[in-house]
Amino acid sequence: MKRLFLLVFILSISTACQDSSDNNPTENISVAESEATPELLPLVEGKTIKNIIFLIGDGTGIAQLTSGQYATVGSDGLLHVQTMPVTGIVKTHSSDNLITDSASGATAYSCGLKTYNGAIGVNPDKTPCKTILELAEEKGLSTGLVSTSSITHATPASFAAHVESRSMEDEIAAQFLNSGVEVLLGGGVEYFSSEDRSDSRDLISEFSDKGYQVLLNADDLNNSTSDKLLGLFASDGLERAEGEPSTAAMTSKALEILNKNEKGFFLMVEGSQIDWGGHGNSADYVINEVQDFDAAVKAALDFAQEDGETLVVVTADHETGGMTLQRQTADGDSLEIYWTTGYHTGTPVPLMAYGPNATEFMGWRDNTYVGKKLAELLQVGNLPILLEN
Ligand SMILES: [Zn+2]
Repeated sequence: MKRLFLLVFILSISTACQDSSDNNPTENISVAESEATPELLPLVEGKTIKNIIFLIGDGTGIAQLTSGQYATVGSDGLLHVQTMPVTGIVKTHSSDNLITDSASGATAYSCGLKTYNGAIGVNPDKTPCKTILELAEEKGLSTGLVSTSSITHATPASFAAHVESRSMEDEIAAQFLNSGVEVLLGGGVEYFSSEDRSDSRDLISEFSDKGYQVLLNADDLNNSTSDKLLGLFASDGLERAEGEPSTAAMTSKALEILNKNEKGFFLMVEGSQIDWGGHGNSADYVINEVQDFDAAVKAALDFAQEDGETLVVVTADHETGGMTLQRQTADGDSLEIYWTTGYHTGTPVPLMAYGPNATEFMGWRDNTYVGKKLAELLQVGNLPILLEN
């Protein structure tokens, strides 16, 4: 009897293990020829910070970056983001869930406080909270938002809008009009055009009347002459179609404009679709997006090295997919990727920093610490600050 029980027990365990591996998708990715390991960038000794470039890889954990590395520069090479000299770890839970979404994740960075999943620039009581971007505008700095989602999506929205739900993208677009932000580059025509908006407002004309040059494709971006830009390169999120700019191109244009302000600037750049690849459990999607994001990181690092008073911080709002580098294939040319979920996970995310005071971000930190510290270092005020409703 005992023996029978043991046999059933062992069988049930092996079936359970079998089930879990069968139910979870795996995908092989090709490992690139290995490039030489580059030197890490040096620590910057100066303490003055004039500009901050804050890059958020949505849903970007260690495995997302590392699979991007294997697929691009092989086992010994490093992505540009991996050459940043300071690393930290960020805890990502929100006020109502140990697994955050992008809205509360971004609000932790923009306002320096914990809020509920879905909240854009408001606290758990739905009271608006001032953002680092708004503080920078008040101090006369220039500001910009760049994303590969609609520019009204949760992450960029949390820096320049205040609504109780991330789904209110029409309202977020309208709030951008009065935010003072100089450069808005991403997707999302449908949240600005009178044909698609529920209130039929023609926000494209309203932005134009406020001095923004409206850009609809990469050529428009290259040829733009205004110091205020609204770039809407797709109906919703960027589709990676011909004629759309890369994240690096958008970042470089934003830096060119924002750098004209002698008082400095705050720029947030989001690699929005790394998260979407995670939701779809598609390693190829993740890798393409990590490569696109890493090129934007390079643009930021090149600018910062030249400038000397620019702090670059790269992190994520959360990890997506429970992505794991599972095993090497027998021929040694490929790596098997394994996913545990189609949603976000609570696994802490990496943070990389380069520039003056980068070492402030060492250690195991809460996401709200990052937002508060960025505002403090840019000397625009101390977060969090609640506004009147
Ligand atoms: Zn997501």
